[in-house]
Amino acid sequence: MNELVDRRLLDFLLYDWLRTEDLLAHPRYTEHSRAGFDAMLEAANRLALAQFAPHNRKSDLNEPQFDGERVTLIPEVKRALDAFVAGGFMGMAADAALGGLQLPSVIEKACFAHFCAANIATSGYPFLTAGNASLIAAHGSAAQVEAFARPQVAGRFFGTMCLSEPQAGSSLSDIVTRAVREPGDDLPLGPRYRLSGSKMWISGGEHELAENIVHLVLAKVPNPDGTLPPGTRAISIFIVPRVLVGADGALGARNDVVLAGLNHKLGYRGTVNTLLSFGEGRFTPDGRGGAIGYRIGAEGQGLAIMFHMMNEARIGVGLGAAMLGYAGYRYARQYARERPQGRPAGAAGKDSSQPQVPIARHADVRRMLLAQKAYAEGALALNLYCARLVDELKIAPDDAGRLRAQQLLDLLTPIAKSWPSQWCLEANSLAIQVLGGYGYTREYPVEQHWRDNRLNMIHEGTHGIQALDLLGRKVVQDGGALLHRLAQEMAATCDRAAASGDAEAKALSEPLQRAVDAVKEATRALWASGSPALALSHATGYLQAFGHTVLAWIWLDLLVTACDRGSAAAVGVTAACRYFYSHELPHVAAWLAPARTRDPLLIDTPEEAL
Ligand SMILES: Cc1cc2nc3c(=O)[nH]c(=O)nc-3n(C[C@H](O)[C@H](O)[C@H](O)COP(=O)(O)OP(=O)(O)OC[C@H]3O[C@@H](n4cnc5c(N)ncnc54)[C@H](O)[C@@H]3O)c2cc1C
Repeated sequence: MNELVDRRLLDFLLYDWLRTEDLLAHPRYTEHSRAGFDAMLEAANRLALAQFAPHNRKSDLNEPQFDGERVTLIPEVKRALDAFVAGGFMGMAADAALGGLQLPSVIEKACFAHFCAANIATSGYPFLTAGNASLIAAHGSAAQVEAFARPQVAGRFFGTMCLSEPQAGSSLSDIVTRAVREPGDDLPLGPRYRLSGSKMWISGGEHELAENIVHLVLAKVPNPDGTLPPGTRAISIFIVPRVLVGADGALGARNDVVLAGLNHKLGYRGTVNTLLSFGEGRFTPDGRGGAIGYRIGAEGQGLAIMFHMMNEARIGVGLGAAMLGYAGYRYARQYARERPQGRPAGAAGKDSSQPQVPIARHADVRRMLLAQKAYAEGALALNLYCARLVDELKIAPDDAGRLRAQQLLDLLTPIAKSWPSQWCLEANSLAIQVLGGYGYTREYPVEQHWRDNRLNMIHEGTHGIQALDLLGRKVVQDGGALLHRLAQEMAATCDRAAASGDAEAKALSEPLQRAVDAVKEATRALWASGSPALALSHATGYLQAFGHTVLAWIWLDLLVTACDRGSAAAVGVTAACRYFYSHELPHVAAWLAPARTRDPLLIDTPEEAL
């Protein structure tokens, strides 16, 4: 395989559908060109094939080791990341003033998709580093940006995000890491604190891949009596470097943050995952124990600021899930074209004297391939659409344009994260099924895709937490304005379909409109109950129905564009769109049925019955 992502599909998504070239007219992107975008995509494909794909299996079989002093990774990881940095990929979307390439986010994500498809675990390090640098660039002081964001854009430092604690995963209001203010105003790197506590599950928390590791840590500042204030409003955010950095950028003493142990995971094994201990006293920076941290923003703004990175990460997680689904689909498709097994039944039954046919000719295998295609390519399209909204936010000429992009992005983020995590995992399961017994062995890559993808419904806010965010917050925010905005976009697609010359596209606008109406109706019914507990007990079914409705919209929009533009991608788009409307969209009504009737089952069932 010489293309990790089908270039014809990518060109269709980027240039026909998302009109990425329109961005070139904006001053932010005038240094770029279509030829430059294409060269970057080709370079990403080449590098991912040459340096990321070859050790995907090896890093799964040889997970990181900790000997009590150092963490060791297979050497291919560092070689690949050094090449990634040298190729300019670390700072793809970062501002030129920070040393980045200032590419549109949609091109950055399309490039990054190649690395995810090749090796999701090694891609984890730059994924975290770019997100960390972006948060500091947006919210840090000028000195913090110079000391901590610029070296990450240059690939000299790597980054992490430290939210979770052993006793506080989904419920961040219960974190107990504390940050005690040190005396001194106007310190060069901002207000200085000493942090103590444990952070669990920290990806990229310890390694020797870079000169330094920049931890972004959520912690609470204790009350004068030493107790910790409750709630998320008491959370602040701190930059805690593994090695201290002077205001001149020089590396100094070791900070008091140490590795307490590694977690041994089902998948994503090449991304080292750690339990970190802050302020244990193993190191004594400036003469005493306690991890030195520099506050970003004001006290109490920590979670709001961290959402900058979490929202980017959620779209990134969705993209990673999509690409794992996509890699499995491509492998299964190739296998199905080559594996002879069975014969088709003719009018007179099966003729054993005839040669066997490739399994891709059997209806059930075609069903599984179409499902994988619809899930994976649809998820890729959705995540590129979200990245295009990020670009729109940066360049919109007026408040109305910014508001539109922000509302759509806010509403779609839980879908962009959760839908690929669920359905591209299902795609990976189907890829195993297409390979039969071979798919269940470690000799073929599809089982690793599934194991790797299984993480994505768990981290960056579990599936259940995404559902609560969607139903409990996003669809009711600003009196339902976000949902109204999305419904308008969907109606516009239906109008385009109705006006298009394609009879099939015309016909599909009706089931899409029905699904949109059903989602709106369920939203009203749930919130009319007057009981948030009852309404939110339906959040996950609602999320699934909402997600499938969004993807039906994406597929119809793709179909209309493919037909209008006479695109070479039209054959595949038509097939996936047909599949989605005939086999997937009908589930929406069933998923919404308990919500419409406000079934109290999930809250009324007694605990002893579970
Ligand atoms: C491999 C890996 C990498 C990770 N990387 C990082 C990282 O780099 N940085 C970081 O900070 N964290 C990281 N995490 C942590 C991750 O974000 C948490 O695992 C996740 O937030 C869930 O927390 P938990 O594991 O404590 O599960 P819990 O919060 O205990 O949840 C367990 C189950 O209960 C459900 N649940 C919990 N609360 C509610 C509720 N109120 N309503 C409904 N259902 C609920 C959840 O949906 C879930 O199904 C990582 C985790 C893993 C496994």
